[in-house]
Amino acid sequence: MSSLNGEREFRINIAIDGPAGAGKSTVARKVAKRLSYVYVDTGAMYRAVTWDMLNAGIEADDEAAVLERMGLLDVELVPGEDGQRVRLSGRDVTDEIRSLAVSRTVSRYAQIEGLRAELSAAQRQMALRKGVVMDGRDIGTTVLPDAEVKIFMTATVEERALRRFRELPESEAITLQQLEREIAERDELDRNREVSPLVCAEDAIVLDTTLMSIEEVADAIASEAERILARVN
Ligand code: C5P
Repeated sequence: MSSLNGEREFRINIAIDGPAGAGKSTVARKVAKRLSYVYVDTGAMYRAVTWDMLNAGIEADDEAAVLERMGLLDVELVPGEDGQRVRLSGRDVTDEIRSLAVSRTVSRYAQIEGLRAELSAAQRQMALRKGVVMDGRDIGTTVLPDAEVKIFMTATVEERALRRFRELPESEAITLQQLEREIAERDELDRNREVSPLVCAEDAIVLDTTLMSIEEVADAIASEAERILARVN
């Protein structure tokens, strides 16, 4: 659609939040492509920091050490031909951060207030000029509370585990039931942490995607973006 491009004068920000495995990143990437917007995967930033902390042998409950090390790190999201690449202090860690070791521990590091403050500031900076589709847990509530479109994507935990299971490389030995348990535990930590927990923003549109295809979800979000853009352009 010609109206869905980056030539408009006015651009908006789109925040997509929800629990693990709801399909946020696949959908966010698609919506960004349709609008010629920039996709920002904030989970990848928390994962990159976690990957580094695990390598450095710094535990999540040693907050002072985490924050000291954090000061030395530079997390970059770089748009590439085959999607977004994640660089940590210059090193490409795009594949490494998807490991189960990172998935199992990331929510513990993500509870640390100082760490969140730094990553949130970097995320806000990326959205300053508008035209971003950002996914995460606290985008509509904390990072970009003024985002013009806010979506909260959910699906049953069984469906979310299945989606993640299909994406995992065969080298990761885990059963579907185990994965379902781990996802439920991660949700629990993300929902109950003190700082910026996973909650649905009051003004977010809730999409239960359990029975929806990726295309249907992307269509719904793109139509909402179109509706807002038609009003302001
Ligand atoms: O999106 P993804 O599942 O890769 O995120 C990994 C983890 O990073 C989440 O489970 C959550 O603990 C943390 N996260 C967060 N806030 C965000 C994005 C991710 O706390 N905005």
